[in-house]
Amino acid sequence: MSWITNFVRPKIKALMTKQDLPDNLWQKCPGCQTMLHHQELIKNLNVCHHCNHHLRMGVIERIEMLFDPGHYQTIELPKSNVDPLKFRDKKKYTDRLKDAQAKTKRKDAIVVAQGTIGGQTAVIAAFDFNFMGGSMGSAVGDGLLTAARLAVMLKAPFIVIPASGGARMQEGMLSLMQMPRSVVAVELVKEARLPYIVILTDPTTGGVSASFAMLGDIHIAEPGAQIGFAGVRVIQETIRESLPEGFQTAEYLRDHGMVDLVVPRGELRAQIMTIINIIMQKKTGKPLNRDEDASRPVAAKQNGSSRSKKDKAKS
Ligand SMILES: [Zn+2]
Repeated sequence: MSWITNFVRPKIKALMTKQDLPDNLWQKCPGCQTMLHHQELIKNLNVCHHCNHHLRMGVIERIEMLFDPGHYQTIELPKSNVDPLKFRDKKKYTDRLKDAQAKTKRKDAIVVAQGTIGGQTAVIAAFDFNFMGGSMGSAVGDGLLTAARLAVMLKAPFIVIPASGGARMQEGMLSLMQMPRSVVAVELVKEARLPYIVILTDPTTGGVSASFAMLGDIHIAEPGAQIGFAGVRVIQETIRESLPEGFQTAEYLRDHGMVDLVVPRGELRAQIMTIINIIMQKKTGKPLNRDEDASRPVAAKQNGSSRSKKDKAKS
Protein backbone atom coordinates (compact mmCIF):
# COMPACT_ATOMS: atom_id res chain seq x y z
CA MET A 1 0.00 0.00 0.00
CA SER A 2 2.74 2.41 0.91
CA TRP A 3 4.32 1.89 -2.54
CA ILE A 4 1.04 2.80 -4.18
CA THR A 5 0.54 5.85 -1.89
CA ASN A 6 4.09 7.14 -2.06
CA PHE A 7 5.05 6.41 -5.64
CA VAL A 8 2.12 5.67 -7.96
CA ARG A 9 -0.35 8.29 -6.67
CA PRO A 10 2.08 11.27 -6.95
CA LYS A 11 3.01 10.12 -10.49
CA ILE A 12 -0.65 10.01 -11.51
CA LYS A 13 -1.28 13.41 -9.88
CA ALA A 14 1.70 14.92 -11.70
CA LEU A 15 0.44 13.56 -15.02
CA MET A 16 -3.05 14.96 -14.42
CA THR A 17 -1.81 18.48 -13.53
CA LYS A 18 0.57 18.51 -16.52
CA GLN A 19 -2.40 17.83 -18.81
CA ASP A 20 -4.30 20.79 -17.31
CA LEU A 21 -1.65 23.37 -18.10
CA PRO A 22 -1.28 23.56 -21.93
CA ASP A 23 -4.75 25.12 -22.45
CA ASN A 24 -3.58 28.33 -20.84
CA LEU A 25 -0.18 28.38 -22.48
CA TRP A 26 -1.33 29.11 -26.01
CA GLN A 27 -3.37 31.92 -27.45
CA LYS A 28 -4.70 32.36 -30.97
CA CYS A 29 -3.63 35.57 -32.72
CA PRO A 30 -6.79 37.45 -33.82
CA GLY A 31 -4.80 38.80 -36.78
CA CYS A 32 -3.30 35.72 -38.44
CA GLN A 33 -4.89 32.87 -36.38
CA THR A 34 -1.45 31.49 -35.45
CA MET A 35 -1.19 29.84 -32.05
CA LEU A 36 1.17 31.91 -29.91
CA HIS A 37 2.98 30.66 -26.83
CA HIS A 38 2.21 32.87 -23.85
CA GLN A 39 5.83 33.22 -22.74
CA GLU A 40 6.80 34.44 -26.21
CA LEU A 41 3.84 36.81 -26.20
CA ILE A 42 4.88 38.30 -22.85
CA LYS A 43 8.45 38.77 -24.09
CA ASN A 44 7.13 40.50 -27.21
CA LEU A 45 4.80 42.86 -25.25
CA ASN A 46 1.68 40.99 -26.46
CA VAL A 47 2.49 41.64 -30.11
CA CYS A 48 2.24 38.75 -32.59
CA HIS A 49 5.68 38.08 -34.06
CA HIS A 50 4.12 36.66 -37.24
CA CYS A 51 1.79 39.48 -38.32
CA ASN A 52 2.58 42.31 -35.85
CA HIS A 53 -1.01 42.30 -34.55
CA HIS A 54 -1.15 44.22 -31.25
CA LEU A 55 -3.16 42.07 -28.83
CA ARG A 56 -4.77 43.73 -25.81
CA MET A 57 -2.52 44.15 -22.82
CA GLY A 58 -2.96 44.11 -19.04
CA VAL A 59 -3.08 47.52 -17.36
CA ILE A 60 -0.21 46.88 -14.95
CA GLU A 61 1.98 45.50 -17.77
CA ARG A 62 1.30 48.73 -19.66
CA ILE A 63 2.30 50.91 -16.76
CA GLU A 64 5.42 48.83 -16.12
CA MET A 65 6.34 49.04 -19.79
CA LEU A 66 6.34 52.85 -19.78
CA PHE A 67 7.91 53.81 -16.45
CA ASP A 68 11.61 53.40 -15.66
CA PRO A 69 12.02 49.86 -14.23
CA GLY A 70 10.96 49.82 -10.57
CA HIS A 71 10.47 53.61 -10.50
CA TYR A 72 6.74 53.92 -10.10
CA GLN A 73 3.98 53.49 -7.55
CA THR A 74 0.25 53.15 -7.93
CA ILE A 75 -1.97 55.71 -6.19
CA GLU A 76 -4.79 54.84 -3.81
CA LEU A 77 -7.98 56.25 -5.30
CA PRO A 78 -10.86 57.83 -3.35
CA LYS A 79 -13.89 55.70 -2.53
CA SER A 80 -16.75 56.41 -4.91
CA ASN A 81 -20.47 56.28 -4.29
CA VAL A 82 -21.12 52.75 -5.51
CA ASP A 83 -24.46 52.13 -7.27
CA PRO A 84 -26.22 55.45 -6.60
CA LEU A 85 -29.20 54.42 -8.78
CA LYS A 86 -29.60 50.95 -7.21
CA PHE A 87 -29.46 49.65 -10.78
CA ARG A 88 -30.44 46.17 -11.76
CA ASP A 89 -30.72 44.48 -15.16
CA LYS A 90 -30.30 40.68 -15.34
CA LYS A 91 -27.99 41.09 -12.38
CA LYS A 92 -27.56 43.72 -9.67
CA TYR A 93 -24.95 46.37 -10.54
CA THR A 94 -23.31 45.77 -7.14
CA ASP A 95 -22.95 42.07 -8.02
CA ARG A 96 -21.41 42.91 -11.40
CA LEU A 97 -18.96 45.19 -9.61
CA LYS A 98 -18.08 42.47 -7.11
CA ASP A 99 -17.46 39.97 -9.95
CA ALA A 100 -15.23 42.44 -11.81
CA GLN A 101 -13.35 43.27 -8.62
CA ALA A 102 -12.76 39.59 -7.91
CA LYS A 103 -11.63 38.96 -11.51
CA THR A 104 -9.23 41.93 -11.78
CA LYS A 105 -8.25 42.43 -8.10
CA ARG A 106 -8.88 46.18 -8.39
CA LYS A 107 -11.65 48.53 -7.24
CA ASP A 108 -12.63 49.89 -10.64
CA ALA A 109 -11.59 50.25 -14.28
CA ILE A 110 -8.77 52.76 -13.79
CA VAL A 111 -5.26 52.61 -12.36
CA VAL A 112 -3.32 55.77 -11.51
CA ALA A 113 0.44 55.70 -11.02
CA GLN A 114 3.25 58.17 -10.61
CA GLY A 115 6.90 57.54 -11.39
CA THR A 116 9.66 58.50 -13.76
CA ILE A 117 10.04 58.01 -17.51
CA GLY A 118 13.61 58.57 -18.61
CA GLY A 119 14.19 60.31 -15.26
CA GLN A 120 11.29 62.75 -15.82
CA THR A 121 8.44 62.55 -13.28
CA ALA A 122 5.12 61.66 -14.92
CA VAL A 123 1.59 60.64 -13.94
CA ILE A 124 -0.21 57.88 -15.85
CA ALA A 125 -3.91 57.03 -15.68
CA ALA A 126 -4.58 53.74 -17.51
CA PHE A 127 -7.84 51.89 -18.12
CA ASP A 128 -8.35 48.20 -17.40
CA PHE A 129 -10.52 46.80 -20.22
CA ASN A 130 -11.02 43.60 -18.23
CA PHE A 131 -13.00 45.56 -15.64
CA MET A 132 -16.49 45.81 -17.18
CA GLY A 133 -15.05 46.73 -20.59
CA GLY A 134 -13.12 49.67 -19.15
CA SER A 135 -16.44 51.53 -18.86
CA MET A 136 -16.42 55.03 -17.38
CA GLY A 137 -18.48 55.49 -14.22
CA SER A 138 -18.05 57.80 -11.22
CA ALA A 139 -15.00 55.89 -9.94
CA VAL A 140 -13.18 56.35 -13.26
CA GLY A 141 -14.09 60.07 -13.21
CA ASP A 142 -12.68 60.27 -9.66
CA GLY A 143 -9.52 58.50 -10.83
CA LEU A 144 -8.98 60.90 -13.73
CA LEU A 145 -9.48 63.94 -11.48
CA THR A 146 -7.11 62.54 -8.85
CA ALA A 147 -4.47 61.84 -11.50
CA ALA A 148 -4.81 65.31 -13.06
CA ARG A 149 -4.51 67.04 -9.67
CA LEU A 150 -1.46 64.93 -8.88
CA ALA A 151 0.17 65.88 -12.20
CA VAL A 152 -0.45 69.57 -11.43
CA MET A 153 0.95 69.19 -7.90
CA LEU A 154 4.08 67.42 -9.20
CA LYS A 155 4.34 69.77 -12.22
CA ALA A 156 4.53 66.58 -14.28
CA PRO A 157 3.23 65.51 -17.69
CA PHE A 158 -0.12 63.74 -17.61
CA ILE A 159 -0.46 60.60 -19.73
CA VAL A 160 -3.81 58.84 -20.16
CA ILE A 161 -4.18 55.40 -21.72
CA PRO A 162 -7.83 54.68 -22.50
CA ALA A 163 -9.06 51.16 -23.31
CA SER A 164 -12.80 51.45 -23.01
CA GLY A 165 -16.20 50.66 -24.47
CA GLY A 166 -17.49 54.05 -23.26
CA ALA A 167 -19.94 55.08 -20.55
CA ARG A 168 -21.05 52.67 -17.81
CA MET A 169 -24.74 52.28 -18.50
CA GLN A 170 -25.45 50.99 -14.99
CA GLU A 171 -24.74 54.49 -13.66
CA GLY A 172 -27.03 56.14 -16.23
CA MET A 173 -26.90 59.95 -16.22
CA LEU A 174 -24.10 59.94 -13.65
CA SER A 175 -21.91 58.02 -16.07
CA LEU A 176 -22.53 60.61 -18.81
CA MET A 177 -21.58 63.34 -16.34
CA GLN A 178 -18.08 61.85 -16.21
CA MET A 179 -17.53 63.18 -19.75
CA PRO A 180 -17.54 66.90 -18.77
CA ARG A 181 -15.89 65.92 -15.48
CA SER A 182 -12.96 64.29 -17.27
CA VAL A 183 -12.71 67.40 -19.48
CA VAL A 184 -12.40 69.50 -16.29
CA ALA A 185 -9.53 67.21 -15.22
CA VAL A 186 -7.78 67.81 -18.56
CA GLU A 187 -8.35 71.56 -18.26
CA LEU A 188 -6.59 71.58 -14.85
CA VAL A 189 -3.48 70.16 -16.52
CA LYS A 190 -3.70 72.55 -19.47
CA GLU A 191 -4.17 75.59 -17.21
CA ALA A 192 -0.97 74.55 -15.41
CA ARG A 193 0.72 74.56 -18.85
CA LEU A 194 1.69 70.90 -18.52
CA PRO A 195 1.69 68.41 -21.40
CA TYR A 196 -1.33 66.12 -21.71
CA ILE A 197 -0.63 63.05 -23.83
CA VAL A 198 -3.15 60.38 -24.81
CA ILE A 199 -2.08 56.89 -25.88
CA LEU A 200 -5.09 55.49 -27.73
CA THR A 201 -5.29 51.71 -27.43
CA ASP A 202 -7.73 49.10 -28.68
CA PRO A 203 -10.60 49.87 -28.19
CA THR A 204 -11.26 53.55 -27.44
CA THR A 205 -14.93 54.10 -28.14
CA GLY A 206 -18.16 55.75 -26.94
CA GLY A 207 -18.17 58.47 -24.28
CA VAL A 208 -14.45 58.06 -23.64
CA SER A 209 -13.55 58.94 -27.23
CA ALA A 210 -16.10 61.78 -27.04
CA SER A 211 -14.40 63.43 -24.06
CA PHE A 212 -10.87 63.45 -22.58
CA ALA A 213 -9.41 60.91 -25.05
CA MET A 214 -9.65 63.34 -27.97
CA LEU A 215 -8.36 66.41 -26.12
CA GLY A 216 -4.68 65.51 -25.88
CA ASP A 217 -1.92 67.91 -26.82
CA ILE A 218 -0.47 64.86 -28.54
CA HIS A 219 -2.42 61.78 -29.66
CA ILE A 220 -0.45 58.59 -30.04
CA ALA A 221 -2.17 55.36 -31.10
CA GLU A 222 -1.15 51.73 -31.22
CA PRO A 223 -1.17 50.05 -34.66
CA GLY A 224 -4.57 48.69 -35.67
CA ALA A 225 -6.37 50.06 -32.59
CA GLN A 226 -10.11 50.67 -33.02
CA ILE A 227 -10.87 54.30 -32.16
CA GLY A 228 -14.27 55.88 -32.72
CA PHE A 229 -17.58 56.87 -31.18
CA ALA A 230 -20.35 54.57 -32.48
CA GLY A 231 -19.53 51.18 -34.00
CA VAL A 232 -19.11 50.67 -37.76
CA ARG A 233 -22.32 48.61 -38.08
CA VAL A 234 -24.44 51.25 -36.29
CA ILE A 235 -23.07 54.04 -38.50
CA GLN A 236 -23.61 52.02 -41.69
CA GLU A 237 -27.19 51.23 -40.73
CA THR A 238 -27.89 54.87 -39.85
CA ILE A 239 -26.41 56.58 -42.90
CA ARG A 240 -27.15 53.62 -45.23
CA GLU A 241 -23.77 53.86 -46.89
CA SER A 242 -20.76 51.58 -46.79
CA LEU A 243 -17.73 52.97 -44.97
CA PRO A 244 -14.17 53.17 -46.32
CA GLU A 245 -11.70 50.37 -45.63
CA GLY A 246 -9.82 50.75 -42.36
CA PHE A 247 -12.47 53.16 -40.98
CA GLN A 248 -11.96 53.87 -37.24
CA THR A 249 -8.47 52.35 -37.14
CA ALA A 250 -5.45 54.16 -35.72
CA GLU A 251 -3.88 54.44 -39.20
CA TYR A 252 -7.06 55.85 -40.78
CA LEU A 253 -7.35 58.48 -38.03
CA ARG A 254 -3.68 59.42 -38.44
CA ASP A 255 -4.16 59.87 -42.19
CA HIS A 256 -7.19 62.08 -41.52
CA GLY A 257 -5.60 64.27 -38.85
CA MET A 258 -7.16 62.94 -35.62
CA VAL A 259 -4.06 61.11 -34.43
CA ASP A 260 -0.50 62.49 -34.51
CA LEU A 261 1.48 59.27 -34.41
CA VAL A 262 0.93 55.53 -34.73
CA VAL A 263 3.69 53.95 -32.69
CA PRO A 264 4.41 50.20 -32.37
CA ARG A 265 4.26 49.07 -28.74
CA GLY A 266 7.95 48.23 -28.62
CA GLU A 267 8.83 51.85 -29.44
CA LEU A 268 6.24 53.55 -27.21
CA ARG A 269 8.43 54.11 -24.16
CA ALA A 270 11.28 55.64 -26.20
CA GLN A 271 8.82 57.86 -28.09
CA ILE A 272 7.08 59.09 -24.92
CA MET A 273 10.47 59.69 -23.29
CA THR A 274 11.60 61.86 -26.21
CA ILE A 275 8.35 63.85 -26.30
CA ILE A 276 8.14 64.62 -22.59
CA ASN A 277 11.85 65.40 -22.35
CA ILE A 278 11.63 67.91 -25.20
CA ILE A 279 8.51 69.58 -23.79
CA MET A 280 9.65 69.62 -20.17
CA GLN A 281 13.15 70.81 -21.04
CA LYS A 282 11.61 73.64 -22.99
CA LYS A 283 9.42 74.38 -19.99
CA THR A 284 12.02 74.16 -17.25
CA GLY A 285 15.47 74.20 -18.92
CA LYS A 286 17.20 77.52 -18.25
CA PRO A 287 18.28 78.61 -21.74
CA LEU A 288 15.00 77.63 -23.33
CA ASN A 289 13.00 79.11 -20.48
CA ARG A 290 14.64 82.50 -21.02
CA ASP A 291 13.63 82.34 -24.68
CA GLU A 292 10.08 81.43 -23.68
CA ASP A 293 9.89 84.29 -21.18
CA ALA A 294 11.40 86.64 -23.72
CA SER A 295 8.83 85.64 -26.33
CA ARG A 296 5.84 86.54 -24.16
CA PRO A 297 6.38 90.34 -23.90
CA VAL A 298 7.30 90.37 -27.61
CA ALA A 299 4.03 88.67 -28.47
CA ALA A 300 2.18 91.10 -26.22
CA LYS A 301 3.90 94.00 -27.87
CA GLN A 302 3.04 92.64 -31.31
CA ASN A 303 -0.58 92.32 -30.29
CA GLY A 304 -0.46 95.80 -28.87
CA SER A 305 1.07 97.24 -31.99
CA SER A 306 -1.40 95.46 -34.27
CA ARG A 307 -4.24 96.76 -32.14
CA SER A 308 -2.88 100.26 -32.27
CA LYS A 309 -2.55 99.98 -36.05
CA LYS A 310 -6.21 98.95 -36.28
CA ASP A 311 -7.13 101.81 -33.96
CA LYS A 312 -5.15 104.18 -36.12
CA ALA A 313 -6.87 102.86 -39.22
CA LYS A 314 -10.26 103.32 -37.55
CA SER A 315 -9.41 106.84 -36.52
ZN1 LIG B 1 -0.62 37.20 -35.82
